[in-house]
Amino acid sequence: MPVNALFRDDFYLSTCEAVVTAVHEDGGIELDQTCFYATSGGQPGDTGFLERADGSKIELGQTKHGADKSIIIHVPTEGQASPDIGEKLTLHVDWPRRYKLMRMHTACHLLSVVCPWPITGAAVGEEESRVDFDMSETIDKDEVTAKLMALVEENHPVFLTWITDEELAANPDIVKSKNVRPPLGLGRVSLVCIGENSAVDSQPCGGTHVSKTQEVGEIHIAKIEKKGKENRRFRIRFGKPGASA
Ligand SMILES: [Zn+2]
Repeated sequence: MPVNALFRDDFYLSTCEAVVTAVHEDGGIELDQTCFYATSGGQPGDTGFLERADGSKIELGQTKHGADKSIIIHVPTEGQASPDIGEKLTLHVDWPRRYKLMRMHTACHLLSVVCPWPITGAAVGEEESRVDFDMSETIDKDEVTAKLMALVEENHPVFLTWITDEELAANPDIVKSKNVRPPLGLGRVSLVCIGENSAVDSQPCGGTHVSKTQEVGEIHIAKIEKKGKENRRFRIRFGKPGASA
C-alpha cells in the first residue's frame, strides 16, 4: 500500500503516529505514514523503534523501499514482536544518527559545488561519506576542505523546490550525477537548493538535508584516492583535519 512519506516534506520530523497496514512474512512492517527515511540515493535508511500502546518497543534495524518507491518497509531487528494490522504505533527515529546523516548528506552537496566534476557514485555514512568524481586532475585535499568550510560558515539556506518529471526530462543538465538516478517515479522531483535563489547550487535529490549550511559543522576531506585514470574518490569526515587518518 502506498505510504504517506512525511520525511519528504519535513526532514526534522523524528516522531509521528501511524497505523500498521501490512506485516510481511519476513517481519517487514508497512504503515499508513512514516517519518522513517528509506534507503535510497546513497543515504542509508533510518533505524529507531516503534512504540506500542502498552509502551513496549519494536526495534527497527533498517528501513527500505518495497517493489517501488511508494512502498516503505520497516524492518525489525531479530526477535522483535510483530504488531497487528490496524494497530496504532508511535514512531521514533534514532535522531542522533539521522541528524549526522543529514549533515553528511548536505556536506556531499557542498563538495559537488567545490568540485564541479560529474559524480559517478556516492555513499553517505554516519562517520564518513564518499563521493566519486569523473576527473583526472590532481587536487589538494586541504584546499578542498578550506572551500567546503567557507560554504559551511557562510550559513547558506538549504531548501527544496519541486519540479515535475517532465521538467526534469527537459533540463537534463541540472543532474550532476552520472549514474545515481534522480528520484523519478513520484510525479514530482525534489530539487535541493543551496543559497538565496539557489545561488550556490541546485540538484535533484530525494535524501534528507539540514536547513542551513552551518548545521553541517566541522568537516574535512580525509583522503582523495585515485580509482582508475579518470576517477577520484573523496572521503569526507567530521571534525578538523588530522582528527582522523
Ligand atoms: Zn541530497
